[in-house]
Amino acid sequence: MALLEVNNLTKYYKEKLALNAASFNVRKGEFVSVIGRSGAGKSTLLRCINRMIDANDGSVQFADTDLYSLGKRAMRKTRRHVGMIFQHYNLVYRLTVLENVLHGRLGYKSDLDGILGRYTQQEKELAVEMIDKLDLTEQIYNRCDTLSGGQKQRVGIARALVQDPQLILCDEPIASLDPRSAKVIMDHLKKIASKMNIGILCNLHQVDVALKYSDRIIGMKQGEVVFDDVPEKLGKKTIHEIYGTTDGDLIDE
Ligand code: ADP
Ligand code: MG
Repeated sequence: MALLEVNNLTKYYKEKLALNAASFNVRKGEFVSVIGRSGAGKSTLLRCINRMIDANDGSVQFADTDLYSLGKRAMRKTRRHVGMIFQHYNLVYRLTVLENVLHGRLGYKSDLDGILGRYTQQEKELAVEMIDKLDLTEQIYNRCDTLSGGQKQRVGIARALVQDPQLILCDEPIASLDPRSAKVIMDHLKKIASKMNIGILCNLHQVDVALKYSDRIIGMKQGEVVFDDVPEKLGKKTIHEIYGTTDGDLIDE
């Protein structure tokens, strides 16, 4: 059974159709990339899945729950199990690595406990464990504004993991990183999917990275899913269809 089932998801920004009846599944432990040129609708897709914004039509089934049937409160509860990784990390830079990672637990707390930073011993231990998993133990008490880009993204991943997620949505997680740091991040994400049995849906700009890491690739063009298959099936012709002939150089490297 699928962990995530996206059916005919459609989103307009005023008259602009940004997502056009997108349908696909993600299974537990599966690493699925979404590729497509800028403006194809990749970010809109992720935002409509976790309802940061609401789609105009279609449905999202996540682990037996129809997300679009949920009220605000229930959605907030369900979102605990959906981690999110951003291109620009979305950390609180004046806080430490540990404090930022603990923020992953905020969805489980009352506002007051969150504001006062009342975390349980178990939550602190979990945060320390995930910080270690992401090789950040040496930086645990460092302020996040002192970290490199790659380290910042690893904090973002550790923060997502303490949520106890079943699904992680990544919006261009390596777009701001140098190739070496990007590889470290992709290796972590791949391992998280396979070893922790978490589904990962990851927007990526680079086709070569998608080919290397994905169990399955979804190709988007002008809001539509135009490809959904294993990397081996992604031929040059499809790549040119997704990116347009003028962007053929995107497949180099
Ligand atoms: P991608 O992430 O693949 O670059 P986006 O999902 O950001 O694509 O954008 C899809 C389309 O929707 C683009 O044409 C973009 O200009 C438009 N769009 C995105 N966000 C907004 C917004 N908040 N308001 C209006 N149009 C938007
Ligand atoms: Mg985007």
